Amino acid sequence: MDHEIERAHEARVPCLSSENPGTPEGRVARLPAAGSPATSYATQWHTSLRQGRRAVLRGRLDATVATPTEFFGITKWMLSAWSPNGDPGALVENVARTEELLDELRSRGALIAEVLATTPPDRAWLEDTVVFAGLDVETVVRVAREHGQPALTAWRDTYLTVIPTGLVDDIEETTREAIVELRPQTCPMRVDDIEGARCAMHGGPYGSRAIHAAAIWSTHRQLLLTRLGCDPCAGGTEPTLGPLGSTVGPVMLGEIDIASRYGGYVWR
Ligand SMILES: [Zn+2]
Repeated sequence: MDHEIERAHEARVPCLSSENPGTPEGRVARLPAAGSPATSYATQWHTSLRQGRRAVLRGRLDATVATPTEFFGITKWMLSAWSPNGDPGALVENVARTEELLDELRSRGALIAEVLATTPPDRAWLEDTVVFAGLDVETVVRVAREHGQPALTAWRDTYLTVIPTGLVDDIEETTREAIVELRPQTCPMRVDDIEGARCAMHGGPYGSRAIHAAAIWSTHRQLLLTRLGCDPCAGGTEPTLGPLGSTVGPVMLGEIDIASRYGGYVWR
């Protein structure tokens, strides 16, 4: 195999594809996420695109947990409506949930700042997160709980606070220093973030196992490219490395439940 393709395979994001996509039973068996929901909230990154670069906001993990006594700036809340109560769902369903959340927040008088992409550092899953201001913490926690979310994040001054809503037991309120970094739009399907390097397709056109693996890979790529951009793949218009081109057949997004902080991709 070509060295570049080999490296692209080694750097592939772990997109939590079902373990045995070659059988109907295997395709609906959901792989658990790498860590607990509490860990996912502590370690997640929030990314928005700024003039051709990624602005990545995350909590500092290498320092002691912060305990600020007072906040001075505006509190920005960060809340997703995806995967309520941990249930698997299709991309279109989750996108519709964001619209419902936006409508509800607006009707309550919130000021919507932006919608950004929340991922683990390895980008094994993604959810859209609404950033807004103008509501008190009781209201925001109530809205989050009604949308089946075990936690939300408060962004105050230079701190990020994960606030549990009471839906799961193991999440504690934790405040960390916030870091914002501007990064190049590397291919989001590679964990090594080498500038200019492209992704290689997983799966292929022959055999049920390969076709289903390729469909999940393509779905994940589409999800990441639309939210995180990709200079090397020119936003997805450039073919991927290898002999198979950029996509394998039509991918029916409605048939696949996407990966989340709770588990991996599955078929319906
Ligand atoms: Zn790529």
